[in-house]
Amino acid sequence: MRGIQEFTIWILTLSIVYVQRTDGDNKNYRVATLFEPEYESLRLAFNNAATNVNIQEKLGQGRNIIFDMRTVKPQDSFEANKEVCREMRSRDGIAAVFGPISSMSRAHVQSLCNAFEIPHIQSIWDPREPREYFSVSVYPDHNELSKAYADLLTYWGWKEFTVIYEDGDSLIRLQKILETARGTDYTMTIRQLEMYQNKYTSLLKEIKEKHEYKLVIDCHTSKIKQFLQEADSVNMLSEYYHYHFTTLDLSQLDLDQFMHKGANITSMRLIDPNNKDVRNMMVDWRIRHTYLSSPLLGMRAIATETALMYDAVYMYARALKGLASAQNVSTESLNCNKQGTWKKGLSLLNYMKAIEYNGLSGKIKFYDGKRKDIRLGIISLTQKGIIEIGHWTNKTGVNITFTHKEKVYNDLERLRNTTLRIVTVYDPPYVYNLSEPNEKGQMHEGFIVDLLDALSAKLGFKYEIYEQEKRDYGSADDTTGKWNGMIGDLIERDSVNKADVAAAGLTITYDRARVVDFTMPFLNLGITIIYRKPDSKPPDLFSFLSPLSPDVWIYMIAAYLCVSFMLFVIARFTPYEWENPHPCNEDSEEVENQFTILNSLWFTIGSLMQQGCDIMPKAISTRSVAIFWWFFVLILVSSYTANLAAFLTMSRMNVPIKNAEDLSKQVLIPYGTLMSGSTRNFFKKSNMTTYKRMYAYMSANEEKVMVGGNTEGFHKVKTENYAFLAESTSIDYQVQRNCDLMQVGDLLDSKGYGLAAPKDSPWIDLLSTEIVNLQEKQDIASFYKKWWVDKSDIVCETEEKDKSASSSALGIANVGGVFVVLAGGSIFGLLVSILEFLWKVGRNARADKQSFWSEMTEELRFIFVRCKSTRNTGESTGKTVENNGVTFNAVPTVPTANKETFD
Ligand code: GLU
Repeated sequence: MRGIQEFTIWILTLSIVYVQRTDGDNKNYRVATLFEPEYESLRLAFNNAATNVNIQEKLGQGRNIIFDMRTVKPQDSFEANKEVCREMRSRDGIAAVFGPISSMSRAHVQSLCNAFEIPHIQSIWDPREPREYFSVSVYPDHNELSKAYADLLTYWGWKEFTVIYEDGDSLIRLQKILETARGTDYTMTIRQLEMYQNKYTSLLKEIKEKHEYKLVIDCHTSKIKQFLQEADSVNMLSEYYHYHFTTLDLSQLDLDQFMHKGANITSMRLIDPNNKDVRNMMVDWRIRHTYLSSPLLGMRAIATETALMYDAVYMYARALKGLASAQNVSTESLNCNKQGTWKKGLSLLNYMKAIEYNGLSGKIKFYDGKRKDIRLGIISLTQKGIIEIGHWTNKTGVNITFTHKEKVYNDLERLRNTTLRIVTVYDPPYVYNLSEPNEKGQMHEGFIVDLLDALSAKLGFKYEIYEQEKRDYGSADDTTGKWNGMIGDLIERDSVNKADVAAAGLTITYDRARVVDFTMPFLNLGITIIYRKPDSKPPDLFSFLSPLSPDVWIYMIAAYLCVSFMLFVIARFTPYEWENPHPCNEDSEEVENQFTILNSLWFTIGSLMQQGCDIMPKAISTRSVAIFWWFFVLILVSSYTANLAAFLTMSRMNVPIKNAEDLSKQVLIPYGTLMSGSTRNFFKKSNMTTYKRMYAYMSANEEKVMVGGNTEGFHKVKTENYAFLAESTSIDYQVQRNCDLMQVGDLLDSKGYGLAAPKDSPWIDLLSTEIVNLQEKQDIASFYKKWWVDKSDIVCETEEKDKSASSSALGIANVGGVFVVLAGGSIFGLLVSILEFLWKVGRNARADKQSFWSEMTEELRFIFVRCKSTRNTGESTGKTVENNGVTFNAVPTVPTANKETFD
């Protein structure tokens, strides 16, 4: 390996010597090269490229680029001009000028080249229009670069950011960003780096105080490291900061010391170090560096301008070769003091501008004399160093190729090495502060601590808990808009009370979600009222009526009367209910119907009271009615009995308020919420009249009714006549432990608790995903059970029984069906009795030799007009008899032959 390297160097050295030696040969093309000492790397890149071009015969026909490398003083335009004139005056003149770099010298040399039509070739950033000069630059067009920077910020959705610039040139580079941010929804702060005289700490402190977390910095690459070091010294390299540098040479810097700090450090680059040509060239230069001590290397990556100088030489060589193949390109000596131009200069310049090829800096193509259509890699400093996370082209815009999976992996790696600072409010059962460490050695426990433990076991982070100074959850000040409480701590994350995550019974609200990030909710809840249970009322004197609703009682009485009457009527119709009242006297012609009105009423009430009766129906019709009535009674009495026990044991509450509406309309029970929290904000922001009225009352009596914490609120409820509006989860916890407290009414809204983190926190997605996972595994449900139910020694008798009893008084909807069955049964009995009646009428008519109709009229008259229950039967022949003034074509009960008919 070493042998090959030595051989290569030997060849290269020889070739350089050869190039120098061929000076004066008009087959060669002489170029003027002027570099200031500080641009040694460009000089070497030129040398290297020209050597390679000559070796590889890029110009064809054995022609070479020959040059006499001159070193000029920076900004010494006189010396630079003198050197160029000297070169032009030489025997064969020159075919191009490379360099100088410093702005003043460059400007003068450019004018000179312009005057004598000698192409001036550049590889550095120059925002001046190249058309004004006889010049061509392989450096990308500044407008295109500026657009790339602006596109990237738009892609990231930066609406609020700070621009730090170095000088006037920076503003040209940042032009497109400044234009984009002119929109009303952008907030851009511009700061100049030079004002701070290379001491960036005061600038950084100012930025920190103003909570500016997204910064675009345009400064020389050499200043970046110091800038980041000073940012680190003021704690500004945490994950919440994003530094985007406009330099194309960030990859050159050794930023390893900042890799684990967490800050997002990004930039763009033109030179892709993974490009095969770039890699080969790096190997080539590394060999030279080892033996020739080249300043080109010692850097992590090739500098953009160096690579561009290399590309510039190749571009020039290709153009020259192209032009020379089409026409004779010869140079001529020109005198700076005389007029004259190089005839081929313009053609060569145009050839260069029309060229298209792939160099170290990607595709080289010119539009309007400006290099455009570039591809910029988007790079980011990660724990593994600088990696390319995407790229930009004018056509496709920003394309981030760093996959979500890679990002998650990256964030996870960082989280594993992080100790999260957790802000909370001690409030049982979410977080308890212990006076001495528990068995796990922790000073805190509670539902939230279990949740954090589960998250940390899965994600690998460590955490430390502190309580919010004022024990506030967080609300924004109406006038200043400044947030207090835990939300304030997250926003002011860089101050002493720096918090990475807020973990408590912290409600996710729209206003909060605009200033901090929330995870998915881990508990669902709503606002409700907690109040002391009122003294219980002795059971009602008439509570025995409660199992059935008043409707049912009324319907039942109506059914009783109807069925009794029906029975009476049916029994009259049916001949089988007419019986001999003297069974021992079989000859008696007297018949009697046991179902008088009173007896019918007695029969039905007897069965309703479950006592039975001495009267029993005999006909199918009356028996049918009886059966359906008994069925009706069976169902109704069973239902009544089932409910009665609950009603008799129930001690009714004298609840003065049943919901928020009741609360809002009274003045005897004071009510309030937490002084600073989402419940208060709910009432404050509500448009509903009831809640508005409640908020007006609460804010007018703030001192008296608002409390500093949930514990204080619950204590107030227990000891005073006070109703506390709080969240159902907290109320649930209290109600399970304090049997004299109860929840009043339903939930007024529905929301959730989530963990919160500063905006753009890299941890929020990881925490969120894991919370969903814990929810699916029902771990969160088991934490809830542990802290709400299992940890409670008290088991209160819930009001469920009462509630269910009062709500289950049987209404007509519950027992309506039985009434229908009864009605059906009664109608059935009636129909059967009519059939029995008609059948008997028919028989009697035949026996009496009367017409059917006259027989029926007589029978009906007996039933409905002469309504008596006894009568004398006629002869068995059915002759008309009269008894007690009733005439009836009696159905014979005697003689025996006819008795069968009756039975
Ligand atoms: N969970 C509430 C919050 O995050 C605090 C309690 C309340 O307002 O009732 O603000």
